[in-house]
Amino acid sequence: MAKIFCIANQKGGVGKTTTTVNLAAGLAKVGQRVLMVDLDPQGNATMGSGVDKRELALSVYDVLLESATVAEARVRSDKCGFDVLGANRELAGAEVELVEVERRDRRLKGALEAVADDYDFILIDCPPSLSMLTLNGLCSAHGVVVPMQCEYFALEGLTDLVNTIKQVHANMNKDLQIIGLLRVMFDPRITLQQQVSDQLKAHFAEKVFDTVIPRNVRLAEAPSYGLPGVVFDPNARGSQAFVDFAREMVERIKKM
Ligand code: ADP
Ligand code: MG
Repeated sequence: MAKIFCIANQKGGVGKTTTTVNLAAGLAKVGQRVLMVDLDPQGNATMGSGVDKRELALSVYDVLLESATVAEARVRSDKCGFDVLGANRELAGAEVELVEVERRDRRLKGALEAVADDYDFILIDCPPSLSMLTLNGLCSAHGVVVPMQCEYFALEGLTDLVNTIKQVHANMNKDLQIIGLLRVMFDPRITLQQQVSDQLKAHFAEKVFDTVIPRNVRLAEAPSYGLPGVVFDPNARGSQAFVDFAREMVERIKKM
């Protein structure tokens, strides 16, 4: 049975999509069966996994509206070695359409349960908001992976996210927990980042992943080639860090 994780943070541009596609590719590389679910209407995780969002016959939108199953809508990314339940702009409409339907925050959960035996990991790339889409992700998941930059306001933003996760845990999904905080785009030469990193460890202790993802230009370049950095340039420092992170995740779920 797959372990299902949301990659979430209410802030935009913090590295959610980069983390999702590179963790997916890293897990595939160490032999795990992975489904990557794109819940962001921007479709960046879809494009960044070698799947053209403009050519999707079916997407996560159809799954949320129950006009397709995951088995019908998923596509294989041969280049990346994992399956993709893609998204495109159509998904932006789902928010409004779901208002009318029953179990609107549980649609994804039900759909993923049907394919849970096909995978070891299901990773969900969330949009930068607490929308009905993100709620569908959080209701489906066993845990949340929070990518964060070690910057001045990082801890403040984290409080909101932690409260949201507590609410979902209390009211909607008893399984949900924070798996860990992932320090991304890290530059050890910047004193402030080192200080925030130390604060994070002081507050959140073992919830902070050991692996640190460095700021690395190859990770930023990879999406323009439609690939995760791990696939585009496996030798890049950032790519190697994501493979290390994949191994750390494999170890963590053994303890869950
Ligand atoms: P989000 O999904 O949270 O909006 P992204 O993953 O799209 O964030 O990342 C925002 C920007 O930062 C993108 O341009 C991405 O390529 C870049 N980026 C993410 N992680 C790194 C990294 N470790 N090193 C360098 N650039 C990064
Ligand atoms: Mg994103």
